[in-house]
This record gives sequence, C-alpha cells and structure tokens, in this order.
Amino acid sequence: AKRIFSGIQPTGVPHLGNYLGAMRQWKRLQDEAPQGTKLFFSIVDLHAITMPQDAPVLRQRSREMMASLLAIGLDPAKSTIFYQSSVPAHSELKWILDCTASVGYLNRMTQWKSKLAGDNNALRISDDTIEKKLKMGLFGYPVLQAADILIHRATHVPVGDDQRQHLEFARECATNFNHAYPGGNLVAPETMITRSPRVMSLTNPHKKMSKSSPNHRSRILITSDEDEIRNRVRGAVTDSHNAVTYDPEERPGVANLLDLLSQCDPEAREPEEWARHLDAENANLGDLKKAAGDAVVRELAGVRERYLDFLNRKGGRWVKEIEEEGAEAARESAAETMRMVREVVGFDQ
Ligand code: ATP
Ligand code: MG
Repeated sequence: AKRIFSGIQPTGVPHLGNYLGAMRQWKRLQDEAPQGTKLFFSIVDLHAITMPQDAPVLRQRSREMMASLLAIGLDPAKSTIFYQSSVPAHSELKWILDCTASVGYLNRMTQWKSKLAGDNNALRISDDTIEKKLKMGLFGYPVLQAADILIHRATHVPVGDDQRQHLEFARECATNFNHAYPGGNLVAPETMITRSPRVMSLTNPHKKMSKSSPNHRSRILITSDEDEIRNRVRGAVTDSHNAVTYDPEERPGVANLLDLLSQCDPEAREPEEWARHLDAENANLGDLKKAAGDAVVRELAGVRERYLDFLNRKGGRWVKEIEEEGAEAARESAAETMRMVREVVGFDQ
C-alpha cells in the first residue's frame, strides 16, 4: 500500500504557492486514497530553525500551521498530522544519514544559497557570506528532509517543484545508507511533483513565492480576506507592455498571473488558452489582474473562516488532542524503521 509523506515549515501562514504546490494535492490524495494508504503530514519545526526564529513566534506559527492544515481539509481521522519535533527519531536518523551523505552533493544544492542571499536575488554568494553566515543546519537541511521521508518509509512524496533537487537527494541518501550497511533497506521514495508550476513572488517574478521573504506584498496568504487578495494581485509586478501574452521567459510577472488563473480555474484551462482568450477580448493587464484576483478569491473561499474557527473557538483542548494523537502515531511509524536502522548500524535496541 502507498505511504505518503510531506512536510511544511511553521515559518508563517501558508501562501498560495504552498497551497497550489503542495497542500491542495495533500487533501486530494487524502480524499482519494484507497483503503490501506497511510498519509503523514508534518509541521517541520526542526527545519524552521535552520533560519533564526523567536521562540514564542515559532510556537504560535506552529499552532497556526496546524489550524491552516485543518482549514484546507486535512482530516486527522484519515491523515497523521504532527509536529516534527515531537518525534525525536527524525533527528536521530538525520545524524546517522549525515555519516554517509555527500558534502559535495549538498554543496551543489541551490536552496541554502538562495536562503542566504535573502531577497537580494542571485545564486552567487560570496565566500565571506558563507564563512560568516552559513550554519550546519541550513547546509544539511536536505539530510533532515531525507530522514523525514525515509523514517516513515514513504513511497510517495508530494511536494512543489522547488523541492525536486531535495527529493533526488533523499533517494541518494537511501542508496548510500543501504550500501554502507549490509542488511540496510531504507526505501527510496518516488517523487510526486505537482502539476502546478512554481508560484512566483508578486514583487519579484524571478523568485518563488515564499513564507520567509520579509516582503509581505510578495505573497497571498491562504487566510487573506477578499479585499486583501484582490489588492495583492492588483499590486503584482508585471511589465510595461500592456497586453496579455504568455511568455514565461520574457514576461515572468504576466505568466505568473496566467498560471494562477489556470491553476484556480475549475475547468483547468491552460495558461496559453487564457492568454489567447483574454487577448481576443483586447484585455489589458488590469483586466488580467481582475480575472486572476476573482479566480483566487473563488479558490480560497471558506478557508479563512475555517482557519479562524480552528484557531480561536476550537483552539483549546480539541486541537491539543489532535496534536497528541498525531505525535503518537508518527512515533510508532518511526520506531519501526529505527529498529532496522539501529540493528544494521550496530547499536543496541
Ligand atoms: P520558507 O520560505 O520558510 O522556506 P516556503 O514558502 O518555501 O517557506 P516550505 O514550508 O519550505 O514553504 O514548503 C512547503 C511546501 O510548499 C513544499 O512542498 C514546497 O514545494 C511548496 N512550495 C513552497 N513554495 C512554493 C511555490 N512558490 N510554488 C509552489 N510550491 C511551493
Ligand atoms: Mg521552502
């Protein structure tokens, strides 16, 4: 049977990129899962501390992430939803994988580079910055991600396009481990990149939309109200050619809006088709923004209300129970893998 694992960092309320690239897919997988499928969705707080965090804020954001996942329709009766730090075995396996993971491979990954560069774009980053700012945790982030996946014996890992490199690396970690330790049988997962393209920042269409960008105007939160959604879309950076064409290379800002329109279209018409349609009506960029704003508002209808409901009215005991049950189920799943791991590495059980 399929075992599905995915994670999201409690680094802020999820945005449209998280939703279209990952969370919406999680809900679909959950709702369509055949009997016997196991689903694990983790709020990866251990990953969050690879960038500086403030303790009360991190705790609050973890709660908000739980409420967000419940608001988009993840159901604790069908999916195991848990905080990564409540399962210490994730960190234990991370260390063991560290001992067979290749630094050369990690060095070629792009995410730590773009996180260090912050909003200043550019994947080129000075030796001086690396020397002063690069921490082991951020550099080794993909190893922890591999541990997350492998510890739950995930067969399928649905993530957004930005995670393609990391999943390939997780497969490599499984292979390295199995080679190094006779009897090791970690399962390399299949990648399940969502059909959705990478959602780009609204203020810089060359960068992906992300929770940790300091610029609030760069993203649309899934908990925004209608006015805010429309405002953000209206403020999106496009270009000076006031007509609608789909050209991701030359016109990334415009293409991003057309992608959003396509993603939020109940009939799933392609962005090219939307561009032709709007162009045939002599639509300008203002019209495109209007249409994209409407589509996003429709797609996110109800999420904000359910989110506030979970966070406030049901925010006490009930969510606590979900948290405890999730942690328990995830610890059991992890313990099974760790028995094999400790055995083949040569540790006591
Ligand atoms: P952070 O900036 O803190 O890294 P993030 O926005 O990148 O936050 P993550 O928690 O790292 O979000 O990723 C959660 C999931 O959302 C992953 O599956 C990732 O692939 C997906 N995702 C993140 N950003 C985008 C995006 N811009 N477009 C599509 N999918 C995305
Ligand atoms: Mg990220």
